[in-house]
Amino acid sequence: MTREEQDEESILFKVEETPLCARCGEGTLVLAQYRHSWMNGRGEDVAGLKEAVLCPSCDHKEPAAAELLALFVADGQVMPENVATFGGLLAAWVESVRHRTVDEALLANEYEQWQRGDL
Ligand SMILES: [Zn+2]
Repeated sequence: MTREEQDEESILFKVEETPLCARCGEGTLVLAQYRHSWMNGRGEDVAGLKEAVLCPSCDHKEPAAAELLALFVADGQVMPENVATFGGLLAAWVESVRHRTVDEALLANEYEQWQRGDL
């Protein structure tokens, strides 16, 4: 968890030539790369890069993604005037994507505990 906190700032993003959405096949607006580490089966830390795309069709129900999408709708593109707002919303969105993954791990963990009868 500490490592994730340290790497929170290192988000790379692209707003041009972003890939098609893997979920619906439509064009995406942002591709973000962020550092991610996890524990492998032997209990070792494995560090890697994860990618997330912002898709107007699939992500508009996520509050953090919706705010970022709204910025694109309002301004059309990232301009020097709104880059600070964009950076903040981007960080919030990546954080929500990150937590989605963490929540899944937490869920799997709770499921295991439940199976063992610990919950
Ligand atoms: Zn999509």
